Amino acid sequence: MTSDSTAEERRLRGVPVYPGVVIGKAHLVDRSRVKIMYQYLVNDDRVQSEARRFETAVRTVEKQLLAIKNEMPGRVKEHSFILDSHLLILKDSMLYGSTLDRILAEKINAEWALKKSLENLKEIFRQIDDEYISNRISDVENVTERIMRTLAGEPGQSLSDIDQRVIITAHDLSPADTTELNIGKVMGFITDVGGRTSHTAIMAQALEIPAVVGLEKATALVDDNDLLIVDGSTGDVIIDPDEETIIRYQEKALQLEKYKSSIARKSHLPAQTVDGHRVPITANIEFLEEVAAVREYGGEGIGLYRTEFLYLRSRGFPTEEELFEDYREVAEIMYPFPVSIRTLDLGGDKFASALDISKEMNPALGLRAIRFCLNEPEIFKVQLRAILRASAHGKIQLMFPMISGLQEIIAAKQILGEVKQELEEKGIEYDREIKVGIMIEVPSAVIMAEILAQHVDFFSIGTNDLIQYALAIDRVNEHVAYMYQPFHPAILKMIQHVVEMAKKAGIAVSLCGEMASDPLCISVLLGLGLDALSMNARTIPLVKNIIRQLSMEQARTEFEKVICLPTASEVREFIQDRTRELVPELAQTGYLSE
Ligand code: PEP
Ligand code: MG
Repeated sequence: MTSDSTAEERRLRGVPVYPGVVIGKAHLVDRSRVKIMYQYLVNDDRVQSEARRFETAVRTVEKQLLAIKNEMPGRVKEHSFILDSHLLILKDSMLYGSTLDRILAEKINAEWALKKSLENLKEIFRQIDDEYISNRISDVENVTERIMRTLAGEPGQSLSDIDQRVIITAHDLSPADTTELNIGKVMGFITDVGGRTSHTAIMAQALEIPAVVGLEKATALVDDNDLLIVDGSTGDVIIDPDEETIIRYQEKALQLEKYKSSIARKSHLPAQTVDGHRVPITANIEFLEEVAAVREYGGEGIGLYRTEFLYLRSRGFPTEEELFEDYREVAEIMYPFPVSIRTLDLGGDKFASALDISKEMNPALGLRAIRFCLNEPEIFKVQLRAILRASAHGKIQLMFPMISGLQEIIAAKQILGEVKQELEEKGIEYDREIKVGIMIEVPSAVIMAEILAQHVDFFSIGTNDLIQYALAIDRVNEHVAYMYQPFHPAILKMIQHVVEMAKKAGIAVSLCGEMASDPLCISVLLGLGLDALSMNARTIPLVKNIIRQLSMEQARTEFEKVICLPTASEVREFIQDRTRELVPELAQTGYLSE
């Protein structure tokens, strides 16, 4: 996060959430934490009524959330599960139950008890080494905030009342707040907190409102009615811009809007290079609800279904039936396109309490993903049965995460074989030709790729983890984020080796890490010879459009030069210059930083 001041205008940079440039007046929304004015002990004879006061506040919040959910605009209806999750949090025993217990046992007022429960939950979330999960604490805070306001008798400003063309500026916005935004009026929003995977970010994307989150000091620096420029593609926010800056951004806004509509119109065209090479573009999804968007954005299948979110969303473990229904629906909606379902990739600390796994010093290196499944064959078998049963209803492929060597493949396939045998015996249908692949995301798997390729039908390279493990940098640690370099020559050489080994064995090789959605990486990935790329659905039209302007032959020739460069920054510079030349619209529309 950076901020600098020139004579008048001030600039901030945060996390871009939804691309688009908006210029307008700031509207500060007070979503700062409610101050707890009173912490007091409650007399014995008042304890029961204090507990009832808390219960009544929770019921009021429940009604508010249900009302917001029922009035959600059509385009965000598919995200109503976020409000469902808030309704679940509201009644969760860790929040609701423990607050009531505290009021009764410690004889303290409801606000104080609720604050203690929240702090306890925050401590638990802090120990979870997963960006997605740790971001969920903001959902708990949003819910707590609503209860606090209700207890204090101040309902807070409803965002649906805002009827001017403004840019909302808030410390944080809950997903419920975001849903209430008056889409026709609100031009964009900026917040102090939040990350790329926060639910507020997900909502901004669903509503297609330009937004920047994680600005840290926005509410401290911005006053009501200040003129703002928000660039949702780069994460730049400019306060009190001067004349020249305004003109520049007006031009950029126009270009970007034109560009977005033109690529959206072409999203169903294939990603085919000028010299006729076709690259299937598939999507990464976390939830069934995203599948409709995949089709809309022209996705040609699901390259990665991250199934662990279904486990994290339901409390406890989902049943085989629930999993089967979910997978079947994804496969049916996507048919005839393929769906690669990745088996559980639960991390070491995730679910530690439910599974009684002892705490690990290095969860990323601990009992996660395939290691966890091989250690818990019964849990693994439930998922494999559900996947196999669903395979009778579409074109499903199965994929094991975090494979580090051949033994894990043999062990996983052995369990898969047992499950297939059970289904055979019971006469339950499944696709007997189901393809089985592995994620290549551990350096040892890269080195062993030649042998591993003999045992599987496809490779999918997970660069998010591969970069983490190869460069020894924690992918969720902001202090080493600058070292997270997809263009590091070691990473490019690793991908190159995996592709070569896959081709030699005659199996398919795709890439599903975030690299595939970075406009700068596309020509390099083409040059590397990947068979398919998988990315978040919204980026598909952009990536397809870039590929349509590149030549495979040229990408290959240039890759020969790129692979000889000794540092990540030299690679980046080279690619940046070439991309500016070959796809000039990317620089004009702000997808390439200036
Ligand atoms: C990866 O590691 O690149 C990947 C796609 O999987 P995840 O981000 O879920 O770990
Ligand atoms: Mg991974």
